[in-house]
Amino acid sequence: MEKLNWLSIQEAHDQLTSKQISSVELTQACLDRINAVEDEVQSFLTITPEIALSQAAHADRLLAAGDSLPLTGIPVQIKDVLCTEGVPTTCASRMLENFIPVYNATVVEKLSNQGAVMLGKGNMDEFAMGSSCENSAFHPTRNPWDLERVPGGSSGGAAASVASGETIFSLGSDTGGSVRQPASLCGVVGLKPTYGLVSRYGLVAFASSLDQVGPVGRSVKDCAFVLNAIAGHDAKDATSVVREQKDYTSNLGQEINGLKLGIPEEYFVDGMESGVRQVIDEAIAKLEELGASIHPVSLPTTRYALACYYIIAPSECSANLARYDGVKYGYSYQGTNDLWEALEKTREFGFGPEVTRRVMLGTYALSTGYYDAYYLKAQQARTLIRQDFDQVFREVDALITPTSPVTAFKIGEKVGDPVQMYLIDACTLPVNIAGLPGLSIPCGFSDGLPVGMQFIGPHFSEETLLKAAHAYEIATDWNKSRPTL
Ligand code: GLN
Repeated sequence: MEKLNWLSIQEAHDQLTSKQISSVELTQACLDRINAVEDEVQSFLTITPEIALSQAAHADRLLAAGDSLPLTGIPVQIKDVLCTEGVPTTCASRMLENFIPVYNATVVEKLSNQGAVMLGKGNMDEFAMGSSCENSAFHPTRNPWDLERVPGGSSGGAAASVASGETIFSLGSDTGGSVRQPASLCGVVGLKPTYGLVSRYGLVAFASSLDQVGPVGRSVKDCAFVLNAIAGHDAKDATSVVREQKDYTSNLGQEINGLKLGIPEEYFVDGMESGVRQVIDEAIAKLEELGASIHPVSLPTTRYALACYYIIAPSECSANLARYDGVKYGYSYQGTNDLWEALEKTREFGFGPEVTRRVMLGTYALSTGYYDAYYLKAQQARTLIRQDFDQVFREVDALITPTSPVTAFKIGEKVGDPVQMYLIDACTLPVNIAGLPGLSIPCGFSDGLPVGMQFIGPHFSEETLLKAAHAYEIATDWNKSRPTL
């Protein structure tokens, strides 16, 4: 029989409600798997077995009382950028190494209200800045498909833990691709919801106009179940929108006959690996075979997206990270009585090099004399990028692109060249700039490494994206492949 830690949410839910298994057993299976592979994968920053087993026992009581929801008793890893009451939330930074929140992020609260079981906190690039998980102040995470390679980032822990069977699903955050890109590099499914669909309350801010929480799972349906649980208006987040509650699983299984899919030429970028191109071309052919119609389209302002993102994200980051001053909370340098020196040393020791680089870039772009030339221009470009999407979605229902132009690269290969690292997000960050939903699913392998295909849709088109991706998934079963770990 298949090990319990590999079950889908649906399978686990069915076996839990029919009393074939208990949540304690399921949770123990994940903890055993963590024990077996975590030394190699290192997807966690904190593992919380006591909390997990007590939450599992609580879930078993709910199940026994017939009082269960789809995620009751299901184990999850939470990215360490989401506040968890009483459990360290470090953002993989020395700055927050000893920070223990006194409240839960809304998404964590929602999972806990469903009776989900927290296994621990996921590794990430420091403050979610990065594409490889190498910017974690504590340790890198390794790709379960090849331990010499990165899992992607910044939610590298979220993707690696799901791909290695350490957890059933995980929560990540996506500012420019941080859920989708690691999902792609690790051969799992990652969803970045429409901006405003999921509450950001308790998500430590990186770039507030771009950040969004999203699920990582081993199937499209698993991500739909998690979206059901975390979506919805939250009075504590002024940017969260009021919309009717939906069941994102309800359209799964429907045909995609007549669905219009656009292929934007600008996403087949220079530097895209030929193996990735080939796999994506085959995936597009498969979607056509399933009844979708394929339309070449163009989004000309895509060429500004990377530059636009790397002005807006650092600008917002420089403002958001100003709170880490050694006074309010977090790391505080104690070796001086001089206030200014304490502030400087706190930030010098508290932040790693990439965070420092972003704060400097952002501060520069926002300063008098440069604001108009950089920040204002970037906001204007943002409007154009968004208009391009609006335009194209008058013609097609969704877009298909590679998630990442490259497969998982070697640890250390790009870390010394920030621009190379930034280029990896060329296909994902326009989606955040426009506030759209994006979904990455596995669609094959290049040289033994997973390739991800991205579905992009208009605002609040998650149902369409999930339906299309699910149709492809069940016709191909790429998501069933597992690393030999
Ligand atoms: N890699 C991108 C960056 O470094 C995106 C990160 C993210 O989505 N959090 O900013």
